Amino acid sequence: MREAGAEVALLDCLDPMWSDVRWPGRSRFGTGAYPKLRMEKPECLQSVPRHYSRYGLSYEAVAGALRLLQPQPDCIFITSIMTYWYPGVLTIIDLVRKAFPGTPVILGGIYASLCREHAEVHSGADLIISGPLEHPGNWKQVWELLERPVPAIPEPLPAGPALDCYPDPPFSIILGSKGCPFHCAYCASDVLNPGFLQRSFGALRTELQTEIDRGVRDFAFYDDALLIRPETWLDPLLKRFTADPGVRLHAPNAMHVRYLTPALCKLLHTAGLKTVRLGLESADFSNRADRKLSLQDWEEGLANLLAAGFKTEQIGAYILFGLPEQDGEEVVRAVRFAHRHRIRPHLAQYTPIPGSSLFEKAKSCSQYSIEEEPLLQNNSIWPCKPGGFTWQEHTYWKQFTESGNRVFPRRNPNGYDRLR
Ligand code: SF4
Repeated sequence: MREAGAEVALLDCLDPMWSDVRWPGRSRFGTGAYPKLRMEKPECLQSVPRHYSRYGLSYEAVAGALRLLQPQPDCIFITSIMTYWYPGVLTIIDLVRKAFPGTPVILGGIYASLCREHAEVHSGADLIISGPLEHPGNWKQVWELLERPVPAIPEPLPAGPALDCYPDPPFSIILGSKGCPFHCAYCASDVLNPGFLQRSFGALRTELQTEIDRGVRDFAFYDDALLIRPETWLDPLLKRFTADPGVRLHAPNAMHVRYLTPALCKLLHTAGLKTVRLGLESADFSNRADRKLSLQDWEEGLANLLAAGFKTEQIGAYILFGLPEQDGEEVVRAVRFAHRHRIRPHLAQYTPIPGSSLFEKAKSCSQYSIEEEPLLQNNSIWPCKPGGFTWQEHTYWKQFTESGNRVFPRRNPNGYDRLR
């Protein structure tokens, strides 16, 4: 939009740097909890024994910020993230409608892309955008809504995130690519960002230098496929950071273990990578939901990380939990596998994502109407796990994953302990 001549202001309802808003304490590397407000549970979640809360800035804080916005906007873009967070999106649309009656509201992002029909019925936005804004059809529709000539479509890359919209960030992000060349059945990356595009290091260098110059020290990679073709941008970027020992890097998205070569591991370590997350998903290597990883890949990748100087306590492995028809014992085996390698298992609770190839199966396995009601796609309620969410099981899995090599509870609701 800036390339097309627009001035842009950003309101991020999860930005912890609002001076007049009390935020829970920050943890290491700029991470931390969000303020939350317990809300009345929606009807469809009444049977789930958990609280229902809204996270981030309060309604009043957002309303107050909108009142101060000058000049009044010509147009308001609202993004959306998880499909089951859509009530927050609807609340924001209601707020901006009250603050700026008559101003066009355009809704995009993940919920709008994956649950378009739902958004058309419920959101109240003037225009719903599916997929990237820079897709020709989306771009044209936006300018037609604004009744302005359609400017040239900007390239999706090399322009990066508008990091300068955050005046005083405690951390920043690095995004060197869009999309992912893999097509895992449980993921909708190729629907949201078709194709796989990488930026050049030249395009990234200036924006990162700007961040370093204003004091940012923690950077998180947001790429879906960080390690693919590292010579394009990642290798030179890591070499640049090697010369800046104060910088800490974090890879909260799972890295592809197969691509952890000795040379790349060494570069990641010398560049200051502190948080390492690997995509393990399952330890049943011959019967996985994806084809990304073999046992040999795993052993070699992990050995390369350790040989490069990473400590096991820095490394975590994501394990998919709650897949349609998944056997709980498979998850137990994966957690034990991670424990045996002395790395921390993280249960990544499966979210049935509309647009992913596994969604049809998820629908047939779920006790909920997950297609009609995005709230029921919430991974916190284990929507595709037989029997759904129970506190006893929740406690069991928490203790089990955190138990490391210690003895974990012998009794559990599903009898998985017979594997011991
Ligand atoms: S799960 Fe990860 S590797 Fe698989 S398609 Fe999605 S982003 Fe790519």
